[in-house]
Amino acid sequence: MKAIIALFILTFASQSFSFTLNNNFGAAFKNDNVKVSVAGNTTCTGITPEELKSLIKPSISDFWNSVSTSALRLKDGGFSASIANIQSGFLCPPTDSTCIAQGATIPPVKDIIIACNNQAANFSNSSNVLAVTVPNNFSKDKIVGAVILINDTSNAFYSLNRNEQISVIAHEIGHAIGLGHSENQAALMYYRTVDMREKLGQDDVDGVSYLYPVKMDGCGLLGTIEETKTPPFFTTLGALVLMILLSELGRLFKRAKARASL
Ligand SMILES: [Zn+2]
Repeated sequence: MKAIIALFILTFASQSFSFTLNNNFGAAFKNDNVKVSVAGNTTCTGITPEELKSLIKPSISDFWNSVSTSALRLKDGGFSASIANIQSGFLCPPTDSTCIAQGATIPPVKDIIIACNNQAANFSNSSNVLAVTVPNNFSKDKIVGAVILINDTSNAFYSLNRNEQISVIAHEIGHAIGLGHSENQAALMYYRTVDMREKLGQDDVDGVSYLYPVKMDGCGLLGTIEETKTPPFFTTLGALVLMILLSELGRLFKRAKARASL
């Protein structure tokens, strides 16, 4: 019996809580509505800015916006204004003084910006790295903005087919909204094979729902239709029950009175 319970706990534990948070960079966006845009002045070796922009919509609607238990709603922001140093600047977390000391940093952004970049240091000098994401703007412990850079020093991202590119962008958006890597192989946030996912895994759903919970109303109900309809219904029902009770009491009282007068 104990073995069965232990197995159950182990199974349960391994299926839950595999998601990790991007804790080095803070928890989550303060606002549940976040724009995802392509830097207006980006240039990429293997993809046109228009093609890059066209990856936004499916990477948000088929993935992160499909979670009913999360309040996060990402929006396609099209092209943003020009961003300084976006092509070859260093992408530094605000707390990384060594990175910032190199100069020519990409300035703090608002919401989520996607661009191509040819600064090899951003990609750990590896041509195998497809892309990198760093939240680089904070207000206290909340993310204000994050940058997703596609590795323009290699052909790794450009050689993927469109669906694979969408999967990679969706994975990077996962980092931008505050998620780290998952150990669960079915998760989009699994650290390997990020280009082979068509939907979120349960672990991704748990992670985004944890970071962006749907707000509960006073009764702990999800949604407001039930909330507004329930009280009048119960008021009517309550009044009906009270009327029946009162009329029964009246009848009993009359009977008791009649008996007493006999
Ligand atoms: Zn990753």
